[in-house]
Amino acid sequence: MFEITTLTAFRDNYIWGLSRRGQAAIVDPGDAGPALAWLAREGLALEAILITHHHQDHQGGVAGVLARYPNAHVYGPGCESITGRTRSLRGGERFALLGVDVDVLNVAAHTRGHLAYHAGDALFCGDTLFGGGCGRLFEGTPEDMVAALAKLAALPDATRVFCAHEYTCFCLEFALQDVEPENLALRERLEKSRALRKAGLPTVPSTLALEKATNPFMRVTEPQVVASARAHAPDAVSAAAILAALLAMLDAH
Ligand code: ZN
Ligand code: FE
Repeated sequence: MFEITTLTAFRDNYIWGLSRRGQAAIVDPGDAGPALAWLAREGLALEAILITHHHQDHQGGVAGVLARYPNAHVYGPGCESITGRTRSLRGGERFALLGVDVDVLNVAAHTRGHLAYHAGDALFCGDTLFGGGCGRLFEGTPEDMVAALAKLAALPDATRVFCAHEYTCFCLEFALQDVEPENLALRERLEKSRALRKAGLPTVPSTLALEKATNPFMRVTEPQVVASARAHAPDAVSAAAILAALLAMLDAH
């Protein structure tokens, strides 16, 4: 398996640096600076760039990285506009990266071609699943997000979740106050996450097991989650309607 390095960009973005035997790959370089600095510092040769979706904070640094490493492959969703893309993906593909198999998952919802990359015990899910939250529905429907999160939930519980933003404390505060005040695992996770942030450390990666236990967007069939959502949206019946209600509540939080 490759090593995974946390690179930070902008206010709260994470760029993931993958390395193995002197070779590297970068996931979602919204900014070229941190990626180039890491590659130079570690003396790595760049094999590939993986893009989850077209938003600038995820691919804005691709041109800058390619200027320095013009031979790097660029993987990204085929139905979105991706700078320098050399391989168009739609989900369901498998490719070798740094000698490790990567499975591509279609998790369209935040954007219409959003991809997640699953390799070994690591999941790079962009803006689909966050610590305690999920991405906003810019181009998809609540049904799409329920399907995307179900796809991720089907991966092994020990899977490490490398999402693209540090939103954990905000999402968990919402979840605890507005959705599941009695969820002890949630309370405990919020306390731990606050301590990490206080120490200047990331709360990411989490694990799928932890998300399933504490993330309301992955718990849309839990009675307490349903009840809290219905207090705001009395007509919400389907999982998609519950998820939509939770997103509206998060917006208002
Ligand atoms: Zn995005
Ligand atoms: Fe983003």
